[in-house]
Amino acid sequence: MTIPSRDELLRAIREDELELWYQPKVSFVTGRVCGAEALVRWRREDDRVVSPAEFLPQAEEYGLITEVAKALFPLLCLDHQKLTDAFGHFEVAFNLSARDLESPELVDLVLRAVHTGLVQPEQIQVELTETAVAADDERLRRGLEDLVAAGVALAMDDFGTGYSSLDALHRLPFSVVKIDQGVVQGLRTSGRCAAIVLASIRMAHEMGMKVIAEGVESEEIFDYLLHAGCTEAQGFWISEPLPLPEFIDFVAQGRRWCRLPVGLIRHTELDHLQWRKELMDQVFGSRRAGIAAADERLEISPYRCRFGEWYYGPGRDFSELPAFAALEEPHLEVHGLGLKLLRASRLGLPEETLRDLAERLNACSDRFLRLLQDLEIEALLEECRQDAHRA
Ligand code: C2E
Ligand code: MG
Ligand code: MG
Repeated sequence: MTIPSRDELLRAIREDELELWYQPKVSFVTGRVCGAEALVRWRREDDRVVSPAEFLPQAEEYGLITEVAKALFPLLCLDHQKLTDAFGHFEVAFNLSARDLESPELVDLVLRAVHTGLVQPEQIQVELTETAVAADDERLRRGLEDLVAAGVALAMDDFGTGYSSLDALHRLPFSVVKIDQGVVQGLRTSGRCAAIVLASIRMAHEMGMKVIAEGVESEEIFDYLLHAGCTEAQGFWISEPLPLPEFIDFVAQGRRWCRLPVGLIRHTELDHLQWRKELMDQVFGSRRAGIAAADERLEISPYRCRFGEWYYGPGRDFSELPAFAALEEPHLEVHGLGLKLLRASRLGLPEETLRDLAERLNACSDRFLRLLQDLEIEALLEECRQDAHRA
């Protein structure tokens, strides 16, 4: 590997030698390709393709990284237009370095593209590495907030590798986390990596964020992530990054990578148990004054709680299974009882009334959880049947 000089890099930028290749991301909910990550490649005069690790560190060092981003963004807009022409709604993520966001230039470029309708903000995502956002930089924060205010989603790249990721997650407006490929690949050999992956997925779910696993290199890992309730997968097992025309052909094949998002059922069970515990704490335990979010979460409507959003949304995939329809009634009832219990407690009704309501709520909640477990078993059996059919 030869280190490019500043002049060589400048020439590459000016002579349009930088291209974007696209690596597909598969949704665990629909089982299909739902978007892509754009990754820069340098096609040299001799047609040799150079990967970013061989020239981006130098671009950073020579102060040219934002020139790279400025050259690539218009390309991204053009490519995105081709992708939406071919497939309709299509999400594309692109990488920015923290330095790109320190000056208003690049943020303005993106905002102008959004305001002139060149790109639909809800279809683009900016990826930043957590190490890049470790420094609490005011300009960076403002740049990110402007992008998010315009509707662009922000993803924390390589989650699990830096030192201040959790801090950055609450400081900055991220709505997506991408679990680092080292951690994902560690799933094969390390129980600790499995624990990190499961906890990261759970954390993202709690925060209402999407969670994408990078570096998925085998069917076993893909399957593990599906059952763990991950949102999307990206990696060589699905496809390597491809030049745009090949990428379009790849997506046009319309392959379905998985069927039922089984892992989401387990999150629903955990969500429900957590809600029940918080409710009982609120009524019978310490009131935890000053802890944010409690009341709002407890009184949420059955159509807007996490289960409701799942049931009336992506959960419809399970509607063929008998246990699915049976879930609606106990779910509505458990919300009704929860609300009654909270109100009774606020009115200071006698302990006996509270206990009676709590018992009814617990009985209903147990029924709801049993049905969720039935649904999980039905979904797993359905998966086995499909595997047997394929084999
Ligand atoms: P990243 O954003 O974390 O991108 C994922 C990298 O992992 C890509 O490497 C991709 O080809 C590779 N990868 C994907 N799936 C697998 C897998 O299953 N196994 C293995 N071993 N690798 C996989 P790539 O394209 O070489 O990019 C490297 C890094 O360069 C990116 O890491 C990103 O941080 C940076 N980068 C790429 N394009 C741009 C860009 O346009 N601007 C900026 N600022 N940085 C970029
Ligand atoms: Mg990335
Ligand atoms: Mg990454």
